[in-house]
Amino acid sequence: MASIKLSKANFFHNLDIIQAQTQSIDKIALVLKDNAYGHGLFEMAKLASEYGIKRAVVRSNAEAQQIEEFFEYVLVLADIPKTPSEKIRYTINTLEQIKEFPSGSLVELKVDTGMSRNGVSIEEMQKAISSIKNKGLILESVFTHHACADEMDGKYELQNECFTQLKEALVNNKKVRFHSCNSAALFRQKSCDEDMVRVGIAAYGCLELPFSSNAEKLKPVLSLYAQKNSSRLVKAGESVGYGAAFTSQVGVTVSNYDFGYADGFLRSCSTNYQTPQKIKIAGRISMDNSSFVSDKDELLVFNDARVVANYAGTISYEVLTSLKSHLKREIV
Ligand SMILES: *Cc1c(COP(=O)(O)O)cnc(C)c1O
Repeated sequence: MASIKLSKANFFHNLDIIQAQTQSIDKIALVLKDNAYGHGLFEMAKLASEYGIKRAVVRSNAEAQQIEEFFEYVLVLADIPKTPSEKIRYTINTLEQIKEFPSGSLVELKVDTGMSRNGVSIEEMQKAISSIKNKGLILESVFTHHACADEMDGKYELQNECFTQLKEALVNNKKVRFHSCNSAALFRQKSCDEDMVRVGIAAYGCLELPFSSNAEKLKPVLSLYAQKNSSRLVKAGESVGYGAAFTSQVGVTVSNYDFGYADGFLRSCSTNYQTPQKIKIAGRISMDNSSFVSDKDELLVFNDARVVANYAGTISYEVLTSLKSHLKREIV
């Protein structure tokens, strides 16, 4: 069965670079949502805690419960608590949601500064803060999310400006903390003056930015390996796999490997894909097995999700989060 290798050295190297950017390990909240971007929730949580990371961000209650032992602070982005927790904080995404939170819960208010996706509007903010208080919830922070931190279209600056005004409006509320940075925003800033950053893709080593920064030193953590099922000599004119999408001009050895789109490797990588060792795909990615022009017993399918994303016409986030949880993950 195909399997994933996780480079501890590269992960720790990335955390070093992120820490140089934040100037404090305590500010780093590692985003572990969606099975730690496909890397494996438990494996990455354990490694992060070994490094000394104290904060994590996840999507759901179920994810928070699986990893809370490793952290002092866990922020849930999109779920509602059953009972208040001392460690787990919950995001308030809409005004209506507030009544569903059990009193005594630690909450963080998400404010929409221009992404127009989740979060209460600037106009609703004061109302949200008083509803939170009336419901007996404990407001820990007000935060926002950037739509264009990795684009140079001026939108990032507008959202920042909006968030700065919001902070000024809450200046008398001494207890409230603020955070706004994802990976791209962190590497875009000269200094990190907020209380926390929510870093995902940079920690996994696949951040891509349209300007030069220390992010260029980040290294991908995940690689995918597959094992050979069988080999055969394909004669000139013979073809391989579904749709006979590969036809050899000369006799070549083609081997079939034990991975496919059911493991989460994108089928859109059919026909043209080449592995990091320049081994060419022979035809299409199938459900459970895929052929390559090679006789190797073990195939390194990829070691940089950004390269796969290029072939597939998508982003590294999708390549990584597509990888199924049934794949064995091994820390090397
Ligand atoms: C996913 C997510 C992040 C992390 O984004 P990266 O680009 O991976 O660093 C940060 N904040 C929120 C609210 C998110 O949903």
